[in-house]
Order: sequence, then C-alpha cells, then structure tokens
Amino acid sequence: MGEPPRPRHVLAGCLPVAVALLLVAGLLTAIQLERPATAAPSCDRVAVMNARLDELGRAGYRWQFGFIPDGAWGAAGYPGSKDITISDTAPCDAIVTVVNHEWMHARQEALFPGRAMRAYGEAFEIVADCGSMLLGSPITPYLERRKKATGQEGCTADELDSARYALGWPR
Ligand SMILES: [Zn+2]
Repeated sequence: MGEPPRPRHVLAGCLPVAVALLLVAGLLTAIQLERPATAAPSCDRVAVMNARLDELGRAGYRWQFGFIPDGAWGAAGYPGSKDITISDTAPCDAIVTVVNHEWMHARQEALFPGRAMRAYGEAFEIVADCGSMLLGSPITPYLERRKKATGQEGCTADELDSARYALGWPR
C-alpha cells in the first residue's frame, strides 16, 4: 500500500519548539525596538543643564526636566508661567541648545512682559533661534524649517539685531 504513514509525533514535537522560537524572536525584536526610548541618558542631564544656566543665569525661572505634551524639546512658561521645562526626551547633546533657545524666550518675555509672542509675532521662534545661534547653538530647528520652506538661510540683519537686543548685547 505504498509508503508507511508519516510519523505524526515528529511534527507534533516540532511545532511547540517552532512556536517557542518565534515567540523568543518576537520578544527580542520588541526589546531592541524599545531600547532607544528606555536607554539611560549618556550624561548627567541636570548637571549639563545647570552648568549652562550657571553661565547664562536663570532669568527668574525655575528650570527643570519633564514631560512636554506636544513633543517639543523645550517649553517656556510651562507648566507655570515661571517654569521652563526641558523634555525628558531631549538628547544629551541637544540640552545646551535647548537651554539657549528657551533662555531667549525668557529674554523676549523680559522685554515684553505678558505679550512676547504677540510682540514678536511670526518672528518669535526665529528670533529665539537667532539668539540661540549667537549663543553658540549648532541646532536651530526653526531656521532649518524656514530654509526648507523658503530657501532662506540663517537670520536676516533685522532678526540678528532683534536677537542681540533681547540678549542685551551691543548692536
Ligand atoms: Zn521656542
């Protein structure tokens, strides 16, 4: 009657092993995917922030790390008007840049208390980035966004002038 029937126990024995291997593979993938988000920061974030603030001054604000709902790396006036929060997700090498940018917002607010965003209008973020650049930041996201959108590179003379004024530098 032809070949003998295939021994079923081989398949039955292999299946659980195969399933177990798949589960292990899935688990490893999940762990690898999560690693960047859960990795310990490669610097003492608070120390990096405070070292920069010791140079700039705290401008009357409470500076802290925390969660920022919209995914930004920094927020001035959040959660309270005298708070500046740097995101827990900001990478170590961006912390000084974020401090510089938020510090510019503190300076803008000092010039136009309670109405800095209105006073600067669309230039609010650009001037903050121009000041951040003057303070040595290698990362200026709003300038980069504008360059992509319009081709304009860097800051205009007026924007630099406005940033220097906010910084209290000679113009
Ligand atoms: Zn900003």
